[in-house]
Amino acid sequence: MPRPVLHNPDPKLRIKSEPVSAERINTPEMTLLIQELKETMVKENGVGIAAPQIGVHDRVIIAEIDDVATAFINPVITERSFRKIDSEEGCLSVPGTWGVVERCRSVTVTALNESGEPVTIKAQGFDATIFQHEIDHLDGILFIDRAEDIQKASRL
Ligand code: ZN
Repeated sequence: MPRPVLHNPDPKLRIKSEPVSAERINTPEMTLLIQELKETMVKENGVGIAAPQIGVHDRVIIAEIDDVATAFINPVITERSFRKIDSEEGCLSVPGTWGVVERCRSVTVTALNESGEPVTIKAQGFDATIFQHEIDHLDGILFIDRAEDIQKASRL
């Protein structure tokens, strides 16, 4: 079932999430968390979501990669491009708000997939932005902390 998404300034969004231990991977509890995150992301029309956005402080994110909602457990950015891009971002936890964030144009991410197997992804452009945005959530960072030129939708 989809879960409610926490909205800024909920303090739970600011807590640093803990790595998922090996014993918890592939357990029904972890499978359920991943399922709920995917369903919540789809329901909210997001392209990424992180566990703290539903109040769970495990280092788990979902990123829509090649149109597939894909789980990454304990994701770490191991390489960042020197080149930057301006990314126009919003966030399910900061509704009605957009801003331009400077992100690395490409990143390499290592993580475990939902079966607990190690994966390495080289992501570019929009995909790279999703990883940077979602991994920030695991550290209690929101895009509005980094954004310039924050815009709010007018209430019409
Ligand atoms: Zn977000």
